[in-house]
Amino acid sequence: MFPESLVPSLDRVVAAASTAAVAVDRDAAFPTATVDAAREAGLLGLISASDVGGHGLGIGAACHVVEAIARVCPTSAMVMCMHYAGTAVVEKAGSEPVRREIAAGRHLSTLAFSEAGSRSHFWAPTSTASAAAGGASLDARKSWITSASHADAYVWSSRPLAAEGMSTLWLVPRGAPGLEVLGSYDGLGLRGNDSAPVAANGVVVPASAMLGADGGGFDMMMGVVLPIFALMNAGCSVGIMEGAVNAAAGHVAATRYAHLGSSLADLPTIRAYLARAKVRADQCRTLWADAIAAVEGGRADGMLRVLEAKAAAGEGALEVTATCMRVCGGAAYRKEVGVERLFRDAQAASVMAPTTDQLYDFIGKALTGLPLFG
Ligand SMILES: Cc1cc2nc3c(=O)[nH]c(=O)nc-3n(C[C@H](O)[C@H](O)[C@H](O)COP(=O)(O)OP(=O)(O)OC[C@H]3O[C@@H](n4cnc5c(N)ncnc54)[C@H](O)[C@@H]3O)c2cc1C
Repeated sequence: MFPESLVPSLDRVVAAASTAAVAVDRDAAFPTATVDAAREAGLLGLISASDVGGHGLGIGAACHVVEAIARVCPTSAMVMCMHYAGTAVVEKAGSEPVRREIAAGRHLSTLAFSEAGSRSHFWAPTSTASAAAGGASLDARKSWITSASHADAYVWSSRPLAAEGMSTLWLVPRGAPGLEVLGSYDGLGLRGNDSAPVAANGVVVPASAMLGADGGGFDMMMGVVLPIFALMNAGCSVGIMEGAVNAAAGHVAATRYAHLGSSLADLPTIRAYLARAKVRADQCRTLWADAIAAVEGGRADGMLRVLEAKAAAGEGALEVTATCMRVCGGAAYRKEVGVERLFRDAQAASVMAPTTDQLYDFIGKALTGLPLFG
């Protein structure tokens, strides 16, 4: 899944992310050091094809990177997750020069799907594309774009230009005239991920900026973006659980009651809570690994597994980090134990689209033979 030869490169990125994590969270600062380390290590081009200079790896490798980084800095992991999700579309439908830029680490990508109008229903943009001299004019109120002020271009959704269908995808350069990042991100968790709203007022892009066919956005979202994004997002949750369980185990083993001459770990209740957290984390990890195997192996249950894995890991991270807060006691409320940051970071996955509630609805529809949309 992840080549041995790239392990030292990933170790360097994880080290950079780990060093930066506390300040990234405290200052809501973009994890520039992580992105720079990924660029220098060649990991921004992880899933770019080898014929444009990338490593030519797939979903499993991207998930591995995101999970490893999420253990120490979920903000950094989310930035990498969105980069690989955008890259997957560009690899499928982008121009060779842009693909080469990504492979060389000179282009940070992201997704600009969610909108003020259709909110988490990302598959149904209400923003528009209309014919304009030299291409198309885009108007939109995007509600969340990770790396909004740092990505080189956004993989952007709109209503179709002229065709039937629900959406069309575009590659929109961040500095395009008419594009405005509306403020900065000051969220509960993933505080450095720079996920800001962006407005587009008559942003003109050339016809060549269209990614795939006019009206073909929905198929690209479901066929290309959903599997890799949902599995990386689950990987982020799995990494958060791993980090939280390790931090909690370390704390309870090292924390002593002087008057009793014992540690927190000597309390059976504490050990049982930790064990439950570990079991839940490993259940999620196992389902996630099976979902990756299902997609990479082209199994018939691949998409169902993708939906299940994101739902399970998103909810699992909420439960596991809450349990880790409990076992670390009042100390967990302070920064130095390291659990409260992961607890806050864990909250995002379940409301990132497709949200857990939507996933439960989709899985229920799949089980009962109903169409997923409509
Ligand atoms: C940190 C962070 C980073 C993000 N980065 C990006 C990004 O880079 N690009 C991007 O495009 N988007 C991004 N998003 C947006 C994300 O994917 C969702 O679109 C967004 O979180 C949805 O929030 P909302 O308030 O619009 O949800 P709403 O749509 O208002 O949902 C509110 C509640 O209703 C529930 N709900 C909605 N529909 C259904 C349904 N059919 N059945 C059952 N329950 C339902 C939801 O589960 C949720 O609990 C990001 C979000 C976060 C938090």
